[in-house]
Amino acid sequence: MIASARVGVVVPAAGSGERMGGVRKPFLELEGEPVLIHALRPFLADVRVTSVIVALGVADAADPPAWLTGADPRIHVVQGGRTRAESVRNAVAALPEVDVIAVHDAARPLVTPEVVDHCIEIAAAGEGAVAGCPAVDTVKQVDGEGRIVATPDRSRLWYAHTPQVFPAAMARRAYAADLAGATDDASLVERVGGVVRMVDAGASNLKVTRVEDVAVAEALLRARRGRAK
Ligand code: C5P
Repeated sequence: MIASARVGVVVPAAGSGERMGGVRKPFLELEGEPVLIHALRPFLADVRVTSVIVALGVADAADPPAWLTGADPRIHVVQGGRTRAESVRNAVAALPEVDVIAVHDAARPLVTPEVVDHCIEIAAAGEGAVAGCPAVDTVKQVDGEGRIVATPDRSRLWYAHTPQVFPAAMARRAYAADLAGATDDASLVERVGGVVRMVDAGASNLKVTRVEDVAVAEALLRARRGRAK
């Protein structure tokens, strides 16, 4: 572990939850605690983390919940943007000076301390790190009518999750550029020439996206707690 790296954590949590009928996913409770608190826990437990900036929607940023602002003195809130990338840009701008910037979606409550640590170590050593897992399904590229135009070699395909962790200068350069079309942070870092590697986080690092994900996430949390006893 590189003890000296100062890590700033950026958490986009300003989505409108359209695929869940307008539910704010980070505020949903899993096993009695908000998804966002589960997502923050491994970062708050890491002594290298000096600052955590959470991007919330306009109304929530103006009146953030006490369970969030009271959870840890390192947590600060900013207003998110129209897209995830804009929310991350706002939060990155609010970070103090740090050596490493970690971006983690509020909607990923099952991230483990081991994955967080591994990604931070890679970034502290100078490369970007993206948590994810190898593709288990064959992926098709289609045209606007749904007709297949290509089948990429599955053995080289990974799903990209978060955390996505970078040397701070690399992340700041990426977020100073045009954000158009970015659905994750690494794609912006790749555009400015940063080297980024994948870290296997396993299939359980799921993003709570649809209603049925809630039951799966709760079952995984219960199973983990059972194993920890
Ligand atoms: O939409 P998607 O599932 O990719 O969102 C990933 C994360 O980005 C979520 O935690 C969501 O709250 C956040 N987000 C945001 N600002 C937006 C849209 C999404 O902070 N405008």
